[in-house]
Amino acid sequence: MADFKLKFRGVRGSFPVADKKFLQYGGNTSCVEVNAGGHTIFLDAGTGIVKAGDELMEKYIASALETENRTPVKTTILLSHIHQDHLLGLTFFKPMHLKTAQIDIFGDGSDKSDLKNNLSDLVFGKTFPLDLSDIKCKLNIHNLSENYCIVIHPDSIPELVKKENFAPAEGDVVITFYKSYVHPQDGVMVYKISYNGKSLIYATDKESYLGGDKKFINFSKNCDLLIHDAQYTSEDYLNHHSPKQGFGHSTYEMAIEAMRQSNAKNLVFFHYEPSYDDSKLDKIKELYTSQNKNVYMAYEGFEFNLE
Ligand SMILES: [Zn+2]
Ligand SMILES: [Zn+2]
Repeated sequence: MADFKLKFRGVRGSFPVADKKFLQYGGNTSCVEVNAGGHTIFLDAGTGIVKAGDELMEKYIASALETENRTPVKTTILLSHIHQDHLLGLTFFKPMHLKTAQIDIFGDGSDKSDLKNNLSDLVFGKTFPLDLSDIKCKLNIHNLSENYCIVIHPDSIPELVKKENFAPAEGDVVITFYKSYVHPQDGVMVYKISYNGKSLIYATDKESYLGGDKKFINFSKNCDLLIHDAQYTSEDYLNHHSPKQGFGHSTYEMAIEAMRQSNAKNLVFFHYEPSYDDSKLDKIKELYTSQNKNVYMAYEGFEFNLE
């Protein structure tokens, strides 16, 4: 199957917002659903993942009348980092509580800071009625190390493969990544998903450097789609009384500069400052997307096709 498409499920940064003046762009926090080669991959598990999980459940139930004949839900979740706005929806993602579902979660982790332990502490147990060990689905939680990439073969579940000497076969979805230290306190994973000759970059919670982030530019060179943090206007970023420099987020100009330097074919602004309502984001849209070709504002439900 040569499909490669995305649906933005939550585009807000920091915390969810709920008011009628946020309905157009949406109030849910970070989550992008990617469908590649028949696989469902979520970039982050902010509150936007909840509705996506409900839809997967509906599809599962509709797949057959008898439970034993239903097509099991299989998903991969890639976590950029473990800040709350990227995790809030995880425990309310219904397939987690479905015995037949297969869920593979990947994120930054090591022996000292194991992702499974971190998730167990942060979103289960004391902060949720269930412990991680009570979760019903077939759940694998993987620590990422930069010598590896994630490969999803057709009709298979994801596996970590050593990058050295690896050559993808036709139909493979390949996910590469690196840890960037531009986001306080523990950095953030930047992901590249490649399939069928096309690639997308997911770079949320990422502040740029003066003159561009050279490692990032190299990593994202010639990508087809760049999803980039665009939390602040330059005015807010440099605000004399309350500057946002060092908070680990970019301005719209920084995102455009990253697009230019990496020669990305398309750019989607992402991870909006929660106080920016629809009218403010409309003004930003007018300012940046009318002058720059192939630049888009993310909103809940926004779909992008990479076929
Ligand atoms: Zn965030
Ligand atoms: Zn963050």
